[in-house]
Amino acid sequence: MTRHNNVMGNDVERTAEEAIAAIERLTRELLARREGAHLIENDLDRLILEIDLSLRDGARHEKGAELRRQIDELLDDAVQHAAVFRPGQAYCHRCASAACEHSQPPSGRHVFVGYAPTGAPKWADFAQRCLDLRHPEVDRLYDEPPALLALNHTAEELHNGLLRAFDNGTFALLGQVTAGFYAIPARADEGRGVVALSIQAGLSRSRRGRPRVGLNLLARGPGGEGLDRIWERQDDLPWRRPVRWAQTALSTLGPALLKRSRRGTELERRVDRILAGLQRRLERGNRSRSRRTRHAQQRHQSGRRPTRKAIEDARGAPDEAFLHDTRSGVLVVLGDRGRTHFFAAEGKLVSSVRYSPGAIDKKIKQDRWQPATDEQRETLRQWLVDPDRP
Ligand SMILES: [Zn+2]
Repeated sequence: MTRHNNVMGNDVERTAEEAIAAIERLTRELLARREGAHLIENDLDRLILEIDLSLRDGARHEKGAELRRQIDELLDDAVQHAAVFRPGQAYCHRCASAACEHSQPPSGRHVFVGYAPTGAPKWADFAQRCLDLRHPEVDRLYDEPPALLALNHTAEELHNGLLRAFDNGTFALLGQVTAGFYAIPARADEGRGVVALSIQAGLSRSRRGRPRVGLNLLARGPGGEGLDRIWERQDDLPWRRPVRWAQTALSTLGPALLKRSRRGTELERRVDRILAGLQRRLERGNRSRSRRTRHAQQRHQSGRRPTRKAIEDARGAPDEAFLHDTRSGVLVVLGDRGRTHFFAAEGKLVSSVRYSPGAIDKKIKQDRWQPATDEQRETLRQWLVDPDRP
């Protein structure tokens, strides 16, 4: 009797496991065909499929189609939920996506300024934006280094003008801080090395699952590259700590608050306060930073006269040994046996260090050091021929 039960139990278990394996296979196949699959591939274990199938007599292919429809819907929701927070890209109501041609700032100087009536994001040059708003310190954006101004925009302002028919209910902006300009080292062909940010607090609502709130950072480098590449130009992004603070603050907003979200509610007021804190931190952080930069510049400007070794190396160096450090702007001259000399304007020696061949190779491969222009190279040679020139 007991034995009989066990055998039956095993059969039932095996059948159930086979059914699960078949559903898992089906899910992976459906996911593989989907754009944006990479956004949720690692999160499949968090998806919950609630099967809602009638067991009445009926053609099996109809039931199969129904199961497929339910899995498709679950994946659709999950991809869209993930895509709403696609880093560096704004949500476009017109395309119901954060991955369309409208979703990225056209240059490093542009910030998000709201939606067009039919739902596409609108962008504007940050300095022009400050001018339009008659910001009293707009002139300082053209200083060298530029001033950092931060603006706070409410959800109301950002949605102003968006026709309700185009308001895709799955995503809502709760507010935004724009800030600029950050000085980022630029290459010769990139123009002025300045970057402006749009930091958006957004709420994603999927048909299933909890609403989520998070920060999205929209920015491009001076050469139009994405956020991950800006990181390569600068060891520490000046906005990193304030943004992390704001993300942590947002994560304390409870699910009950998110569910009740309507325009002008408690949720938006709480987010406004967090964004005001972010705005203050961005401005304050940059002030202490520019003090540090000034100190560093003073050290640079009092640069020593080149040592005999540095002059010898530089005079004997072939053209290819003259490089330009894209981050700091100084010229780099590679001497013998890893000796590396850094020269500021007027041939002042900033420092001489010894690098391993691997370290030198890495900086060149990462484009941190690029070949000096003919003019940069010849100017430095001139200075080194006659270091006592005024
Ligand atoms: Zn679009």
